[in-house]
Amino acid sequence: MKSTMQDVPLTIGRLLEHVSIVHPDIEVVTATPDGSRRRTYGEIGERAARLANALRGMGVDADQRVATFMWNNAEHLEVYATAPAMGAVLHTLNIRLFPEQVTYIANHAEDHVVVVDASLLPAFEKLLPTFRTVRHVLVAGPEAAEADLSALQATGVDVQLYENAIEAAEPTFAWPAVDETSAAAMCYTSGTTGNPKGVVYSHRSAYLHSMAVAMGDSLALTAYDRVLPIVPMFHANAWGLPYAAMMTGAMLVMPDRWLQPEPLVRLIQAEKVTVSGAVPTIWNDILGYVDEHHSDLSMIRQVACGGSAVPVSLQRALQERHGVKMIQAWGMTETSPVASVSWPPPGVEGEDEWQYRGSQGRLGASMQARIVGDAGIELPRDGESVGELEVRGPRVTGSYYPEDDAESQEKFHDGWLRTGDVGSLDRLGYIKLSDRSKDVIKSGGEWISSVDLENALMAHPDVVEAAVVGIPDEKWDERPLATVVLRDGATTTPEQLRAHLADTFAKWQLPDAWAFIAEVPRTSVGKFDKKVIRKSFADGELDVARA
Ligand code: ADP
Repeated sequence: MKSTMQDVPLTIGRLLEHVSIVHPDIEVVTATPDGSRRRTYGEIGERAARLANALRGMGVDADQRVATFMWNNAEHLEVYATAPAMGAVLHTLNIRLFPEQVTYIANHAEDHVVVVDASLLPAFEKLLPTFRTVRHVLVAGPEAAEADLSALQATGVDVQLYENAIEAAEPTFAWPAVDETSAAAMCYTSGTTGNPKGVVYSHRSAYLHSMAVAMGDSLALTAYDRVLPIVPMFHANAWGLPYAAMMTGAMLVMPDRWLQPEPLVRLIQAEKVTVSGAVPTIWNDILGYVDEHHSDLSMIRQVACGGSAVPVSLQRALQERHGVKMIQAWGMTETSPVASVSWPPPGVEGEDEWQYRGSQGRLGASMQARIVGDAGIELPRDGESVGELEVRGPRVTGSYYPEDDAESQEKFHDGWLRTGDVGSLDRLGYIKLSDRSKDVIKSGGEWISSVDLENALMAHPDVVEAAVVGIPDEKWDERPLATVVLRDGATTTPEQLRAHLADTFAKWQLPDAWAFIAEVPRTSVGKFDKKVIRKSFADGELDVARA
């Protein structure tokens, strides 16, 4: 039987229309050096129409890629909304990747227009001559009017000020009907374990993902919230926070380039932020700052953390010392990204609650997962059997871009995505990861979880950060090397740290090589960069003690 319901596509255009009509007075706030600049969703609705007209004038009339090279700010949100709503494809470029990778990505995606923040021109000027398909550049942000554009103009590409283009354009736009399965946005993985790979989201997947992020058992977003996405909009859609805010009418508080703990805490307090999202390294920095300055964070209702394993010690410290409830989420660029969120099941309390909150979370609605062992056989969902995590669902990519990309075929099979993450799944759908497959430490044929070791080390009061990698060993193939950042003034020894771990780990799992370092190298999105640590060890750059 055919349903009688209206066939209205689930598109980004609907979100833009909804937020600008139903929540026109709610603001999008962008941090400035001495305060903020503010714009309402109603104003953004009109500016989006103007931007669409301006882009159409630049030949964006089909699925051309409109790229961004921007911080999190109101203009970035306007491009996020406008490009997909007009039927084009938003492509967020990661401003922190190595230049060669940005060049590769922009050319691979065949970007047509780039909107760039004036504050990023020094980096962008070097990139533009390497972009083969870019025809137009729009320079945005408060500094744009004073910016020297001569280097960009010298490339022969059309260069305009974003604000001028918006001002000159008509304030209404005939938004086209867009198929919900068509491309809305694309994003490349941050390349932590290899070359960046492109993922193309559909309108439908972005819409469903926004609903999933806004749900009560995820971030429970409403128009009463003031959301601070610290996680960059150039990486994995800022975990869907911008679109989820548009869906719910939540106010957005954008940090722009002020990502150090002091301005972030100031912004949280000034704008009474209720919800935020960032990777563990950022929260760790914020924790250090608020511990030292006794800052008030009581306005926060909940923060999300993910991108890499979130130590329970970090969650507990924020909750017990500052009343900030942190919830861990797991996901990948390939999964839109949020796929699981670690709310414990009802009735679970005390230490058991922390067991769940230390996990990568419970699968969200519409997500399916399985654990697959060495021989390609599905393992039981018993919370113990460890293998590779595979997922599928309507917000999981079915391939990389382009669809026939031969190099990446092995990541997909029978409709499942091989995540490259290793761990277990329990009967209630909670994921517990022990490693990424490329970081797994295999010692004497047995796996040692670097994530578990890191979490335990970071629970030691003298340890700021710790990253554990496998190093070659003649007898055992590999052994764990712990690289540790100690608190200022701490004189803790490897023997003491080993003794601290000995309570919870078997002897053969304990690191026997130790290096104290000034900071853990990080990737472009703030994750521990284990490739760099392994290379430093191989090049003899680490001062390694055996214990
Ligand atoms: P990249 O693969 O380049 O790092 P992504 O940002 O898409 O790009 O990273 C996704 C990966 O991040 C996941 O496959 C997983 O390894 C890691 N990750 C994300 N969230 C968590 C989490 N909560 N715990 C552990 N690892 C996580």
